[in-house]
Amino acid sequence: MAIRTFEALLVDEIKDLYDAEHQLTKALPKMAKAATSTDLKSAFASHLQQTEGHIKRLEQVFEGLGKKPARKPCAAMKGLVEEGSQIMEEEMDPDVKDAALIGAAQRVEHYEMAGYGTVRTFAHLLGHHNLETLLQETLNEEAATDEKLTGIAGRINVKAMQH
Ligand code: FE
Ligand code: FE
Repeated sequence: MAIRTFEALLVDEIKDLYDAEHQLTKALPKMAKAATSTDLKSAFASHLQQTEGHIKRLEQVFEGLGKKPARKPCAAMKGLVEEGSQIMEEEMDPDVKDAALIGAAQRVEHYEMAGYGTVRTFAHLLGHHNLETLLQETLNEEAATDEKLTGIAGRINVKAMQH
């Protein structure tokens, strides 16, 4: 389907994010299982809960745009999740693997931050101020998760270096 307007582009990008978030609800439990650090496990578990909230917010955004929720396959998230799976399958010392999992997870958060920053700005420019607020809330949670992961990495990387 052709994307003829800026608003149609916003809808298209929301569909991409909607698919990306769904992919993450499948990946995060596996990441939590693969992690050794209890801090890291619980960070993945709590971000899974937030991710379910991100899906709900996107459904509110679809509603605000007068559209039914629909997924557009997000190839980038598929690739990021695939890289995470490769780390899980790799034989590594547990602390080293945790450090690698954090690297994979932070790539995901940065990808999401870029996506939400874009749609937040589109919503602002199109005058959808309530939708802008919803998207900003998710963006803030992605950024907070990224910072939390940086904090955990600070401890894990030191342990990983000792091997
Ligand atoms: Fe998210
Ligand atoms: Fe996220």
